[in-house]
Amino acid sequence: MTTFVHDTAVVEPGATIGDETKIWHHCHVMRGARVGARAVLGKDVFVASTASIGERVKIQNGVSVYDGVTLEDDVFVGPHAVFTNVENPRAFVDRRAELQKTIVRRGATLGAGAIIVCGHTIGEYAFVAAGAVVTKDVPAFALVAGNPARRIGWMSRAGHRLPEGNDVQCPVTRERYRIDGEVCNPVSDEPPPEKIPLQDIAAETKFFEPKLRAAFDRVLAGGVFIMGSEVTALERSMTDLLHVEHAVGVSSGTDALLVSLMALGIGPGDEVITTPLSFFATVGAILRLGAKPVFADIDLATQNIDPERVRQAITDKTKAILPVHLFGRPVDLKVFDIAAERGIPVVEDAAQALGATTDRGHVGGLGTIGCFSFFPTKNLGALGDGGLVVTNDAKLAERVRLLRAHGAKPKYHHVALGGNFRLDALQAAFLREKLPYLEELTERRRVNAAAYREGLGELEAEGRIVLPPEHPGHVFHQYVVRTARRDEVKATLAEVGVETAVYYPEPLHRMPVFGTAQAGDDMTNAQKTCRENLALPINPWLTAIGLRRIVNQLRIDLADSD
Ligand SMILES: *Cc1c(COP(=O)(O)O)cnc(C)c1O
Repeated sequence: MTTFVHDTAVVEPGATIGDETKIWHHCHVMRGARVGARAVLGKDVFVASTASIGERVKIQNGVSVYDGVTLEDDVFVGPHAVFTNVENPRAFVDRRAELQKTIVRRGATLGAGAIIVCGHTIGEYAFVAAGAVVTKDVPAFALVAGNPARRIGWMSRAGHRLPEGNDVQCPVTRERYRIDGEVCNPVSDEPPPEKIPLQDIAAETKFFEPKLRAAFDRVLAGGVFIMGSEVTALERSMTDLLHVEHAVGVSSGTDALLVSLMALGIGPGDEVITTPLSFFATVGAILRLGAKPVFADIDLATQNIDPERVRQAITDKTKAILPVHLFGRPVDLKVFDIAAERGIPVVEDAAQALGATTDRGHVGGLGTIGCFSFFPTKNLGALGDGGLVVTNDAKLAERVRLLRAHGAKPKYHHVALGGNFRLDALQAAFLREKLPYLEELTERRRVNAAAYREGLGELEAEGRIVLPPEHPGHVFHQYVVRTARRDEVKATLAEVGVETAVYYPEPLHRMPVFGTAQAGDDMTNAQKTCRENLALPINPWLTAIGLRRIVNQLRIDLADSD
C-alpha cells in the first residue's frame, strides 16, 4: 500500500509523506512539513512547515500541529488537542522569531482537547488526560490531568495505569518499572518475556509423567509388545467414547486413511473428493492407491470443505468423499447428506478432531469410516506414532483388521494385500493413561477459545481479524485466525516470544507432487486462507496471563493501521 491522501486534503509540494500514511478529509500539510511512514492524520488536521511528525503517529480530528512542534514516533494526539507556539501573542506584534519548541517524545498520548502550552517536553510514553492544560515539562511515563496539569500517577508503555509503589508491574504486560520520586523507568535488565510455545509437549509430558512411567513398566513386565490386551483395551475405550461399533488401532493417522481407502477398494481410475486445505496425508493416501483426488474448495468461514462444491464435484467415477474436520471443527453435515443421497461412502479425516461432536453424534462415526491420529501434538497424543480407524460396519472393520496385518487369515495364509499397520502395545498403553483426561483438556482449549473471542471480538467487529465462528462441538486442535497482515503479525508475535504457525502455507492442489499438471483450480477460498491464516497457541497448558499477552500484542499490532 502507498500513501493515501483524500481528495479534499491539500498536501503542498515539498511536504514529505512516508509510505502507507493516510491523510483524511480537509487536512492541510504545508511545504517543508515532514510526516513519517504509517501515520494517520484524521479529518481537518493542519501541519505547518517546520512541524515534524514521526512514524505511526496517529492524530485525531481537528488538530493543528504548528511550527516548532515535534511529534516523535508512535505519538497519539486526541481530537481537538491544541498546541500553541508563542508564549505572549499580540495581534499587532510580530513574534515569528520567538517561536517556542514543543517536543512530544516517542509513544506519548495527548488526550482529547488537551492544551499543550509551548516550550515544553512531554516525556516518552507520558499520558496527558483529556482536557488537561500542560504548563510545564511532563516526565516520561507520567499520567497528568487537570488545569494546570498535575501528575496523578504513572502509565506503562502499553498504556495501563501502574499500581502504587516503587517496584511495580504493568497489570497487563507484566513489564516491570522502578519509580523514584518524580522519575519512572522500565527495569532495563528485565529478562526477556517467557516464551509461549504453540504446542507444549514438555508441560503435557510433565503432567502425565508418573502415569506414563507406570504404563511403560506394565508393558515391560507383560512382555507383549505387538498388539495384545493394551491395544484391545484401548479399542474398547474408543468405541465407548465415540459411540461406534468398531475401533481398530493402527500405526498412524496416515495409515488409518490409507487402510480405510484400501478397505473400501479404492484404486486406479477412482475419484475421491477431498479438501484443498489439510495436512498432506489426506491427499497422500488417495495418491498412493493410484486414485485421483478431486478437490472441492473450502467454505471461507469454517475452513472446511464446502458441501455445494462437493455436490458439483461428484461424477460417476466418485468412489468416496474424504472430508477433514479441520482444526477440530466438525464438517458441515450436509456433506454426509449429499453422500447418502448419492450412495457414496464417506471417509472422515478426524485426525484433528477426537471428541468433537455434532447434532448427529461424534465425528468419526458420522460417515462410513473414520480416521484418527495420535501424533504427539494431536489432542490425544502418543509418545510416537499411532492412529485409529472406527466404523459401524462390521464387514469393513473386519477388512481393516485383515489389512492391518498383511492380509493374513489365518496367520501366514495371505488372502489380501495389506501391510504392517499395527499400533504398538506401548503406545496403546500410554494412550490409555491419557484418555481419561481428554475431556478436561478439551474443555481447557474451549476456555482459551472463549477468552480469545472475548479479547479479540472488537478487532473482529472492526474488520481487522477473522476469528473461527462458534460451534459448540469444536475441540480446537488449533485456533486459526485470519488477517491480511498475517506475516507482519506473525513476526511481531515472534519478537515477544509467542510461537505461531501457518496452517497451511500452500493448498494441496498446488503441491509440486502433482508436477505441472494442475490437480485443481479455482480453489480461491483455500488460496486466500493460505495467505491469511495464523494459528495462535490454544493448547491446554497455555496460561491465562500468556493468552492475555497474545491478545494484547494483537490489539497493538492490528489497531494502528488506519
Ligand atoms: C496429523 C494428520 C494426519 C496424519 O496423522 P499422522 O498420525 O501424523 O500420520 C492426517 N490428516 C490430518 C488432517 C492431520 O492433521
